[in-house]
Amino acid sequence: MLPPDQWGSDEPAPPYDVPRGTCPRCGSDQVVHLVIGMPASPEEFGSGPDWVSWVGCIHPGFDRSCADCGHTWDARLDGANDE
Ligand SMILES: [Zn+2]
Repeated sequence: MLPPDQWGSDEPAPPYDVPRGTCPRCGSDQVVHLVIGMPASPEEFGSGPDWVSWVGCIHPGFDRSCADCGHTWDARLDGANDE
C-alpha cells in the first residue's frame, strides 16, 4: 500500500551530488563549485557541502575554482579553457 501524498510539501531537497572533481591545473581536490542560479527554496540556499558556493543569477564566467592554486574554469568546457 502506498501512503497518500507522497509528493507533499515536506519533500526534502535532493542532495547536492555532483562529483567534486579535481583542479585541471594542479590536480588538487580542493575544488569549489559555483552553482549558477537560485535554489528553488530559501531552505536550499547554502544547503550543499561547504565547497559549494551559490552565486545566484550572476555568472562569473566560470563555475569551478581551486582553493589551492586559485585557478578558475568552466566545467562545461571540460577543461579546454586553459586561460
Ligand atoms: Zn589548483
